[in-house]
Amino acid sequence: MQTLIFATGNRHKAIEVQNFLGEGFALRCLKDVGITEDIPENEPTLEGNALQKAKYVFDRTGQSCFADDTGLEVDALGGAPGVHTARYAGDECSSEKNMDLLLRNLQGVSNRSARFRTVIAYIDSFGATHFFEGVVEGSIVEERSGTEGFGYDPIFRPSGYAQTFAQLSLNDKNKISHRARAMQKFLEFLNQ
Ligand code: IMP
Repeated sequence: MQTLIFATGNRHKAIEVQNFLGEGFALRCLKDVGITEDIPENEPTLEGNALQKAKYVFDRTGQSCFADDTGLEVDALGGAPGVHTARYAGDECSSEKNMDLLLRNLQGVSNRSARFRTVIAYIDSFGATHFFEGVVEGSIVEERSGTEGFGYDPIFRPSGYAQTFAQLSLNDKNKISHRARAMQKFLEFLNQ
């Protein structure tokens, strides 16, 4: 079994990624390697943020690790919230407040197309960096639906589906999600 350090403190993400990787990999998260402080994430791009997090953990542990960063890009808002997705509604934000603000900003807007984009930065045991990207196209629905998942899942409907991410099971979300697609490329690289 291969052990991988995933630079996240987000339990939902860790469960998704472990579920995706299956039993051949043991994920270790930040607290498993003794990192409890918030890792800086203040770069202007998803790539920059993912690398910043991975580098922080690599510098602390000396072990290969990966980090991801995700943005929700809404076409009618010029690609916003993009790199600001996590804190769209400000410092005191929550998933509920973020979704409220997004729905408000799209009130009366007919073009609801959007995509989730994930970038994974992996630093291997030699210190070399590798990037993997995954995208899922979809649209922002008018009202929340579903209770699964996290973040913007209740208002994001992937293209080709009648349900939002929050109405899909974790297994179904993991067949098509941005993170799963980036993870798939990462896995192929690891298995090379
Ligand atoms: P992170 O870079 O993975 O932490 O993602 C940034 C923000 O994007 C999160 O705080 C969530 O609000 C949102 N997000 C990331 N992945 C998902 C997802 O799979 N579903 C819904 N929202 C997500």
